[in-house]
Amino acid sequence: MTATTIALVTGANKGIGFEVAAQLAARGMTVLLAARDAQRGEAAAARLCSASADVHPLVLDVTDPVAIQTAAAHVADRFGHLDVLVNNAGISGHQAGDAPSTTRPELVREVFETNVVGVLMVTNAFLPLLRRAPAARIVNVSSGVGSLTHHTTPDHYMSGLPASAVYPPSKTALNALTIQYAKELGEDGILVNAAAPGACATDFTKDLGLRITRTAADGAAIIVRLATLGPDGPTGGFFDDEGTMPW
Ligand code: NDP
Repeated sequence: MTATTIALVTGANKGIGFEVAAQLAARGMTVLLAARDAQRGEAAAARLCSASADVHPLVLDVTDPVAIQTAAAHVADRFGHLDVLVNNAGISGHQAGDAPSTTRPELVREVFETNVVGVLMVTNAFLPLLRRAPAARIVNVSSGVGSLTHHTTPDHYMSGLPASAVYPPSKTALNALTIQYAKELGEDGILVNAAAPGACATDFTKDLGLRITRTAADGAAIIVRLATLGPDGPTGGFFDDEGTMPW
C-alpha cells in the first residue's frame, strides 16, 4: 500500500457502510464516504471526521452513470489512485408478492440495477484508479441469501424461506460477478471478494419483524478484513465471520 491508503465505500451514510467507513478510517486510511444524497453524506462524514480520522464525503448514486463518472474524475484529480473499493450500497426491494410467479419485472430490474449493475458501473469507473494502487482490494457486500447452496440444502433454514425472485437472486448474481472480476483482475494483483455481513440491525432489516442483535459494526468486520487482505490473501471467494461461505 502507498503511504496514504485511500478507500471508497458506497452507500456509507448509514448502516453497515457507515461502520465500514469508520473502521477503515480508524485503521488510518483516508476514507471517501460515498452517498447518493449530498447532505446525508456530508452529515455522516462530519460524524466520523476527527483529528485522527480522515473522512471525505463523495456524492455517488450507483445507478447514475454521470454521477459515477463525475465522482471518479474527482477522486482521480484529488487523490490519483484508489486502494480499496467497497461496493456496499444495496436495496432489498422487500415487498409482499416477490415470489417468482407474482413479482413485477420492474422490481427485479430496480433491485438488480442497484445491487448488480451499479457494482459493475462503479467498479469499472474506478478500475483505472485501482490499477494505479500497488495492491488494490475490492469487496462486494453480498448476503448469505445469495448462496444457492443454502437455498438448496434441505436442513439449512434458508431453504425454508419464502421464494423470492428479487433480493436473493440479486446477491447470487453479485457473487457470480465477483468471481468473474477476480478472474479478470488477478493478473493486476487486485483481490476481489464477496462478503456476507450476516443479519444486522439496520434500516434495511427494521421492517422484517425479526429480532436481530447483531450490529452494523459487527457486520462491517468481515468487510474490513477482506478490504485489508495481505498479498497472499484469497480472491474470488465468499466469506462471513466464520470463514468461507458456499456459493
Ligand atoms: P441500509 O439500508 O442501512 O443502508 C443502505 C445504504 O445504501 C444507504 O446508505 C443507502 O443510501 C445506500 N443506497 C441505496 N441505493 C443507493 C444508490 N442507488 N446509490 C448509492 N447508495 C445507495 O442497509 P445496510 O447497511 O443494512 O446494508 C448494506 C449492504 O449490506 C447492502 O448491500 C445489503 O444488501 C447488505 N446486507 C445487509 C444485511 C443486513 O442484515 N442489514 C445482511 C446481508 C447483507 P440512502 O440512505 O440514500 O438510502
